[in-house]
Amino acid sequence: MTLDDLPPLREVIARHGLAASKALGQNFLLDGQLLDRIARVPGPLDGARVYEVGPGPGGLTRALLRAGASVTAVERDDRCLPALAELAEAAPGRLSVVPGDAMDMDEEAAVGRGAHIVANLPYNVGTALLVRWLTGTEWAPWWASLTLMFQKEVAERIVAAPDSDAYGRLAVLAQWRTSASLAFTVHRSAFVPPPKVMSAVVHIRPAAAPEGVTAARIGQLTAAAFGQRRKMLRQSLKSLPGALGALEQLGIDPARRAETVSVAEYVAIARAL
Ligand code: SAM
Repeated sequence: MTLDDLPPLREVIARHGLAASKALGQNFLLDGQLLDRIARVPGPLDGARVYEVGPGPGGLTRALLRAGASVTAVERDDRCLPALAELAEAAPGRLSVVPGDAMDMDEEAAVGRGAHIVANLPYNVGTALLVRWLTGTEWAPWWASLTLMFQKEVAERIVAAPDSDAYGRLAVLAQWRTSASLAFTVHRSAFVPPPKVMSAVVHIRPAAAPEGVTAARIGQLTAAAFGQRRKMLRQSLKSLPGALGALEQLGIDPARRAETVSVAEYVAIARAL
């Protein structure tokens, strides 16, 4: 069996009894064209390494393998393992499946540096995984790019600009040392079963980290600022040592609210703390 003559995903799901589990955030994608489109977002993958979280029955995995990638995939649902073993046979030496929880993975040890992360993430751990990938102490990070499906509302929070309702901690954490863009939205009807809300694919590439700022400082600052997003900075940052002095030094009006402060201004405040 080769990748070209694999049975349709619907048949694989039926044969292996992969009824979608809500607890595991399972909403499967079956449309090969859509899956190929997601696999094109990171750029050409021929010969590249990819880390996939939650392959499920393997639809996105197939697209990544069709694009020529070697894939390491972590899947928590053991019911999917026989279907993934069949897929591994169809792409000899290019698919390695790690049974287990993505939150417990030592990713760099399992995948190595320079891999692209591509995943239709389970909604219950998606944001936690993203924050982990964004807040690593080492920069450049071990991953080359992130191509991730989220609920559309979460995707909008990642790429949001200041002065919008979606702008908050996640936008600053995502954007202070990456370029993050919304690749395209995906209608809920593309999933089996359809989720309640629309989804979107986000593409994130690492950028140069600004000098003199750590992820821990940005984390601390944004937690304080957006913890009370409706309050003025003079109120929300008053418990953060050095923050009010930093605002004064930088000429940032302490009467402003967190959602009006640009990513570059957060970086400057964090540096001055
Ligand atoms: N990649 C498939 C697709 O696009 O059709 C399935 C995506 S589905 C939204 C999420 C997948 O993540 C499911 O297969 C689920 O079992 C798996 N999953 C859920 N929680 C996980 C975790 N903590 N670690 C690894 N996989 C997980």
